Amino acid sequence: MKTVIVTGGAGFIGSAVVRQLVSSGEFRVINIDKLTYAGNLESVADVSRSNRYVFKKMDICDDTIGAIFRDFRPVSIMHLAAESHVDRSIDGPAAFIETNIIGTYNLLQGALEYWRGLGEDQKSAFRFHHISTDEVYGSLGAEGLFTETTAYKPNSPYAASKASSDHLVRAWYKTYGLPAVISNCSNNYGPYQFPEKLIPLIIHKALIEQPLPIYGKGENVRDWLFVEDHANALINIMTRGTPGDVYNVGGHNEKTNIEVVQTICSILDDLRPRSSGAKYQELIEYVADRPGHDLRYAIDASKIKRELDWTPAEDFESGITKTVRWYLDNQDWCEIVMQKYKGERLGRQASA
Ligand code: NAD
Repeated sequence: MKTVIVTGGAGFIGSAVVRQLVSSGEFRVINIDKLTYAGNLESVADVSRSNRYVFKKMDICDDTIGAIFRDFRPVSIMHLAAESHVDRSIDGPAAFIETNIIGTYNLLQGALEYWRGLGEDQKSAFRFHHISTDEVYGSLGAEGLFTETTAYKPNSPYAASKASSDHLVRAWYKTYGLPAVISNCSNNYGPYQFPEKLIPLIIHKALIEQPLPIYGKGENVRDWLFVEDHANALINIMTRGTPGDVYNVGGHNEKTNIEVVQTICSILDDLRPRSSGAKYQELIEYVADRPGHDLRYAIDASKIKRELDWTPAEDFESGITKTVRWYLDNQDWCEIVMQKYKGERLGRQASA
């Protein structure tokens, strides 16, 4: 049985990775998570009783974190733990510098020390997989796609912290030979996403009949990927990716924010009509734009298709319908995770 360490496995994408790895029956998973406001063990409840699953509550910023490699002797680490919300990075960048940069450095050092002590076969099989974002590439105009060779131009503190950690991972590969891969993915959506990100936020606010906040004119474009597709891509990259390589992962689903919100509203009109008979769209409210708001992200995912034969199973229409249904059926999960949320603003800048 191969042991894989997953950091951030109680978060949105990490929990999907943990659920898929454990369910496959091929891996023992060690989930390392600090359980910040974004981490919820309820998201891995389906697999947490498996004898192939271990949870350790730990902070990757702790400089003793390297002990996890000696203790669990993994064949790979999939590093997803991060501060991940752009708005929070604008309000308070310090935690992003700590977790995303220093935390990644700590893990790299721990992995390197462990890797150096392995036999030759184990050394070449080992992977340090860093999960990153397309936001490191900055913003696109109306045309073009991000490829694996697009220059880094991060605009938000979040994007800059992820770009920094990507550079560290690359340097540990180039300088020390640590077999590392990096994947940069577009916006994810799906079950178990904390209701501060656009899609679950809109579903949550619509169901409690509050205004649906949209930045600026809602014209910003994101390339949406269903989270289970992303988790599946990540497992492919971890098991079959080439050390030193970068893989862009995307959904081929470019949508403006207003299109996304209108789609959610019309699905809710069908599945859970408002008691007043009014349409959910009437709750839409345009709010002051996010500073430095990137206009458009879009991924060229041809490399991962060509080299690893990966394409997403869901298109936006099927994925968003599944997602809205999941939130309607799992209001108890939403209530549990929202209890950790102490009345902070949702979907607006602190000053807005
Ligand atoms: P998330 O915020 O839902 O989860 C992050 C997890 O990391 C949480 O469980 C949290 O408790 C844990 N964590 C935070 N700080 C930690 C620390 N210091 N030590 C240990 N654990 C800590 O994030 P997500 O949306 O699941 O994103 C996961 C990864 O994927 C991130 O690295 C993010 O940059 C990247 N990513 C996200 C998206 C997206 O659309 N959500 C897109 C591309 C890439």
